[in-house]
Amino acid sequence: MMPYAHRGAGTAAMSSISFDSRGVFIAGQWCECAGARTLPLLNPSDGTPLAQIARGTAADIDAAVQAARAALDGEWGRLGAAERGRVLMRMSALVLAQADELARLEALDVGKPLRQGRADALALARYLEFYGGAADKVHGQTIPFAAGYTAFTLREPHGVTGHIVPWNYPMQIIGRSVGAALAMGNACVLKPAEEACLSALAFARIAHDAGLPAGALNVVPGLGEEAGAALAAHPGVQHLSFTGSVAVGRLIQAAAARHTIPVTLELGGKSPQIVFADADLDAALPFLVNAGIQNAGQTCSAASRILVERSVYDTVVARMAERYRALRVGPALRDLDLGPLISARQRDQVLGYLALAHEGSLEIVAQGEVAGDAPSGGYYVNPTLVAAVPAEHRLAQEEIFGPVQAVIAFDGEAQALRIANGTDFGLVAGVWTRDGGRALRLARALKCGQVFVNNYGAGGGIELPFGGVKASGHGREKGFEALYGFSTLKTVAIQHG
Ligand code: NAD
Repeated sequence: MMPYAHRGAGTAAMSSISFDSRGVFIAGQWCECAGARTLPLLNPSDGTPLAQIARGTAADIDAAVQAARAALDGEWGRLGAAERGRVLMRMSALVLAQADELARLEALDVGKPLRQGRADALALARYLEFYGGAADKVHGQTIPFAAGYTAFTLREPHGVTGHIVPWNYPMQIIGRSVGAALAMGNACVLKPAEEACLSALAFARIAHDAGLPAGALNVVPGLGEEAGAALAAHPGVQHLSFTGSVAVGRLIQAAAARHTIPVTLELGGKSPQIVFADADLDAALPFLVNAGIQNAGQTCSAASRILVERSVYDTVVARMAERYRALRVGPALRDLDLGPLISARQRDQVLGYLALAHEGSLEIVAQGEVAGDAPSGGYYVNPTLVAAVPAEHRLAQEEIFGPVQAVIAFDGEAQALRIANGTDFGLVAGVWTRDGGRALRLARALKCGQVFVNNYGAGGGIELPFGGVKASGHGREKGFEALYGFSTLKTVAIQHG
């Protein structure tokens, strides 16, 4: 093992948070990964190399799982709930103090506009604050049982939890999954995405500086099919939390089944916002567009379908088009409306969907503009509004994961509900109406994990349980509910006469 070190091409220029961009973080130390192989991390804004990261192996994952187990058997496992909470609070304070650095790192790595990177850093701090405060407030119950018995329940950590996170919101997803898992006393092995993992490495350093005992958080970057698959298959892991694609989510669930361990799967969506004729359109309009183009549409809860009642359809399309034409796309640090997509592969996927729109003679009503001076090597796409999309068309059914929104007209509540529920996904839905009865009917009838009425996304909703049904996955993260997911219930029945 190498000593705790500050190395790595470009790290100092990117951030003053000292971490080893080529390292794996195991048992409180930066180490060289087994085999010393690295992967290039590209800057999505211009396609140039940003850093080299470790190509973690099964051996590194094994070392990380062992370090996590040792932490549970050692100092971390002995800490009381309140003390765990204090550690998380200190982590939160350090994240806040370094929010600008983290924002810059995330913006460079993911390609998101700087202010979105800052919002993500603040969200990470807030997750740690929320779960720090909640750590000592998860209570068991006493159960009135037979005479001569006292029965009660205990909430206990699973043990070693594996966290496989994607590239689109690394800090937010680490906050909601690692934050909740640590609050409940688990020890974590985090496998960040190979496309963007610098904030995960910086977070390891911050956790260390905040006094998180060695081994409670281990970070192993690397390829999904290598480090990720090794983590999912490791017999020393007692719970898996995965956010990413449906295809990989199914592999994770299958791997978990081999050891009969629980999994939380967050697999994206095709979320609708439904606009009725009686809605406050002025209030709705900013949410309709922003929830589609935030993070260049690479958001699991992106509102990629806009369902509009026919009598206000032309008005809504015209007003959305006006906003689209004003959208500007450019390098992350220019902080325009949108940055680039994460990779050439992701850009090509989105361009493929736009080609489908052209082939199907769909109505492309408006596009935003890529800034003239945006570097030619960056992965830019014009945000695109497509109208009159048939509900069964691939643009209205598949997760595009780019800045493309499909507008669909409907006639009446029953048809709106049929279309909204008519995809494989079920993550989030928005309903815009002044009719309270309709809002409640739809909130109950929509098949998804979250419904927003007369808003969408609710300012990040850290307190609000989040997750999907159908192909969007299962299990809940965020809010207090996550603490139940990251713990297991034990029932104790004492016969005392
Ligand atoms: P992915 O599912 O391939 O990657 C997500 C994470 O899983 C990464 O850390 C990756 O390294 C890891 N992984 C990949 N293969 C693995 C394997 N065999 N075993 C264990 N871990 C593995 O997602 P992607 O390729 O980055 O993106 C593809 C699509 O996934 C996107 O177009 C989008 O539709 C969806 N996606 C959804 C979300 C979301 O928030 N729900 C996030 C990112 C991507």
